[in-house]
Amino acid sequence: MTEALIVIDVQKDFCPGGALAVTDGDAVVGPINAMMGDFETVVLTQDWHPADHSSFAGNHPGAQPFGTVDMPYGPQVLWPAHCVIGTDGAAFHPDLHVDRADLVIRKGFRSGIDSYSAFFENDHETPTGLAGYLRERGISKLAFVGLAHDFCVAWSAMDAARLGFHARVIENACRAIDLDGSLAAARDAMRKAGVALD
Ligand SMILES: [Zn+2]
Repeated sequence: MTEALIVIDVQKDFCPGGALAVTDGDAVVGPINAMMGDFETVVLTQDWHPADHSSFAGNHPGAQPFGTVDMPYGPQVLWPAHCVIGTDGAAFHPDLHVDRADLVIRKGFRSGIDSYSAFFENDHETPTGLAGYLRERGISKLAFVGLAHDFCVAWSAMDAARLGFHARVIENACRAIDLDGSLAAARDAMRKAGVALD
């Protein structure tokens, strides 16, 4: 059975110098490029928000980045504006081998709801279509890498496991935001969800 490599959000805004930089985020690019040859299928995700996106602290009067608000679908961390549609910060890291991708899936493009996971928006109900794509291609094993380990990588891998895919995270090709212990919590949650941490 072939395994697909799912590369989460390796975009300029999540790398040093970007609007929501993950420490050492660009360090994942080399290892990801190197492992692409080991996979028959490569999928890239791209965080892709309208400027009025509800996950941006600036769109909530008085709110600060990294605070939390209650949204109709549950609590939502507020972020600095990032990965705005069409901006340079939303582009993939220039060294990432994007030509290897069979599919680029964009997420978070509805202003009223965020989408950490590559499979569902943050209501855990609205699908992105990725599961159907993979199933139609007969792919049941997935390896996750990218940014950020404790948010979009973790949520994607846990959704994959819940959907019945064999899911693993290759941790040396991930970097975390680690907000208030979020990396340890995410690793614990991933293990409980049946995600293998390699
Ligand atoms: Zn985002």
